[in-house]
Amino acid sequence: MTKAADDTHASDPILTVLWVKRDLRLEDNAALCLAAAQGPVLPLYVIEPDYWALEDTSYRQWAFLRGAVEDLRQRISDRGGQLAVHTGTVIDALERIRAAHGRFRLMAHMETGNAWTFARDTAVRAWCRARNIPIEEVQQYGVWRGRDLSRNAWSKRWDAMMSEPLRTVPDAIRWVSFGDSRVPEAEEIGLSHDGIRQLQTPGRAAALDTLETFLHQRGAPYQKAMSSPVTGETACSRLSVHLVAGSLSMREIYQATLARQAEIAELPKEARGLWPGALRSFIGRLHWHCHFMQKLEAEPEIEHLPMARIYEGLRPVPNDDSLLTAFATGQTGYPFVDACMRYLGATGWINFRMRAMLMSFASYNLWLPWQQSGQVLARLFTDYEPGIHWPQSQMQSGETGINAVRIYSPVKQGYDQDPTGTFTRDWVPELAGLDGADLQEPWRLDTPPEGYPAPIVEYRSTTRAAKERIYALRRTEEAREEAAKIFDKHGSRKPRQVRRQARRGADA
Ligand SMILES: Cc1cc2nc3c(=O)[nH]c(=O)nc-3n(C[C@H](O)[C@H](O)[C@H](O)COP(=O)(O)OP(=O)(O)OC[C@H]3O[C@@H](n4cnc5c(N)ncnc54)[C@H](O)[C@@H]3O)c2cc1C
Repeated sequence: MTKAADDTHASDPILTVLWVKRDLRLEDNAALCLAAAQGPVLPLYVIEPDYWALEDTSYRQWAFLRGAVEDLRQRISDRGGQLAVHTGTVIDALERIRAAHGRFRLMAHMETGNAWTFARDTAVRAWCRARNIPIEEVQQYGVWRGRDLSRNAWSKRWDAMMSEPLRTVPDAIRWVSFGDSRVPEAEEIGLSHDGIRQLQTPGRAAALDTLETFLHQRGAPYQKAMSSPVTGETACSRLSVHLVAGSLSMREIYQATLARQAEIAELPKEARGLWPGALRSFIGRLHWHCHFMQKLEAEPEIEHLPMARIYEGLRPVPNDDSLLTAFATGQTGYPFVDACMRYLGATGWINFRMRAMLMSFASYNLWLPWQQSGQVLARLFTDYEPGIHWPQSQMQSGETGINAVRIYSPVKQGYDQDPTGTFTRDWVPELAGLDGADLQEPWRLDTPPEGYPAPIVEYRSTTRAAKERIYALRRTEEAREEAAKIFDKHGSRKPRQVRRQARRGADA
């Protein structure tokens, strides 16, 4: 709490503007609880057209968020309030509220966004300071502010925060209305349809249903089934978009998972099935969510620069965009890569392993800078989360300095993750009549299929060349020294990794 905010507690309650960001819920909402405890609350959501014009944002992201905003607007209205919806800049919205209501206090959840939202938040804070408007930003994820945060006790802190009691929705909220509450359609903010065909259902009820069905029905085969896009579609939790919108909190997900773990533990051993491993693995990934976001929070530059600066400029921007276009449109000539890209284009989601394979293909085989291919993928992900996306993009490109270099074979992944070929044939109908090696490596056929491109690069030789280039840098003394510093700042402190790190230098 800032000094200025303390002062306002002492005087008559003043209006709190609750700036709703990616926390589109009433439940377990610390910012709402604090605001309601202090007096009247004006909930405000701002649609910023400049944000929606960025290269990493897209129609599908707004289409989903719009549904979640609409859902919250309705839920506030059911409780007698009104969500003020403003299209423009946040500062413009705050200026208008100040003109109508006088001085207020601003309350919001912390956000780890992209460079644009970081600059926007800095500008809002400066605007508040200059007008003596108290501003309070409350933590909602296991992500802590500050560049110098030690990673040593991070996991313990995360567990403690996620184990805190859930915040209940305040009984009586003194809502204050302001302006309009109509939520604009995508087209009204300059976004045109981007080919999404199966948008996940937004809103609180859908988020709760997704959590419930994962924990009680779909999730048992999670550990094995998550690796394939065929089985991952139902066996993965599919909660990522709901976390991005904040329709339910990380704490709610974590505690529901612990409760389910306890329920399973009560069962006789033979009745537990695959659930114990699935739930353990899932909890690990909930930690990863914040572990990755913490990296961007601690070093916002890594949206654009490699964590290991020694790799800066390694992959120059090509003179023409033919490789990037082939990648983006699923026309690379590698059937499984193209099937994944087209599936992603139609659904806005794909499983982790295939995201890693796509980035690996773009970075190692096509030798494109991850900043470019990362924007293509960001736009296609309905669940685009900058704090996960950019650290993952550079990790799958071998530019973090501390993680193992993993190059996925686009052919082997096809055989392993789509053994029957159904997925590849469904999404690459040009290859509909083919099977086995003919399907995954059609360039080996005497008469390659019509209407489907030949491979745009040769994957074996490009993989070899990529390894040579990466390892030539990675083996240098400079790279090792830099890696030690990177591990210190960003590395995961799992005991096994700490031991391995101590043994092998900083490659952990
Ligand atoms: C290149 C690349 C880019 C990615 N970009 C994004 C992104 O923009 N937004 C995003 O939410 N995830 C991203 N991921 C991580 C991961 O692929 C997705 O979180 C996951 O596929 C979402 O599906 P799910 O909710 O069913 O996941 P589940 O497997 O059910 O996992 C549950 C939750 O744990 C978190 N999680 C799972 N895997 C990871 C991971 N590897 N790293 C960090 N958190 C994880 C997510 O919040 C996820 O919703 C990216 C991965 C790669 C390799």
